[in-house]
Amino acid sequence: MCMKNKKLAKQIITILKKKFPAPECALIHNNPWQLLVATILSAQCTDKRVNMVTPALFKKFPTIADFAGANLPELEKAIYSTGFFRNKAKNIVACAQALLEKYAGQIPASLDELVNLPGVGRKTASVILGTAFGKAEGIVVDTHVARLSKRMGLTAESDPLRIERDLMQTIEKKYWVEFSHLLILHGRECCTARKPDCESCELESICPRLL
Ligand code: SF4
Repeated sequence: MCMKNKKLAKQIITILKKKFPAPECALIHNNPWQLLVATILSAQCTDKRVNMVTPALFKKFPTIADFAGANLPELEKAIYSTGFFRNKAKNIVACAQALLEKYAGQIPASLDELVNLPGVGRKTASVILGTAFGKAEGIVVDTHVARLSKRMGLTAESDPLRIERDLMQTIEKKYWVEFSHLLILHGRECCTARKPDCESCELESICPRLL
């Protein structure tokens, strides 16, 4: 990956860190398991919607064991509004059962172990590692990170895995977790999918605007 992109990535991080001094995962959670559930629910759904659902959900199912033994239709009803609720409910129950069987109810802190859990892909695993354990083994590429990385010329790829590979070659490892949070926040607030507000964007002077 060229030096130009490395320099651009550094500038983006510096500018966005001024705008968002404490970037964090937007999904409300109190422990790694709740973050895992919220992340599974966030597939094809907004974080805002997930945050509307999870408080009541975690009250109804307070522990991993509660999820492992959940009545499926009851769980489906509780997460219905996040979409794809049947699949998500099935995965959450299977994931809870696997955690109890293989890890004594603890969330493993490695990418390889996490991606072997039901319903957990590379993106979900990276969210858990970065946010719950402060470990960066990859870069979370969601719809915002993908869109902004392309617009800002950090990748020409469309496939999330390839985008992640480009970003991992461009961005210093110590920024991997923060970088995703920053792009997600900026993507929601300014560089939106339909109407990027380039005129008032803090990155306007350095962004190639590949819209
Ligand atoms: S200048 Fe425009 S395209 Fe570039 S990051 Fe800002 S809003 Fe997005």
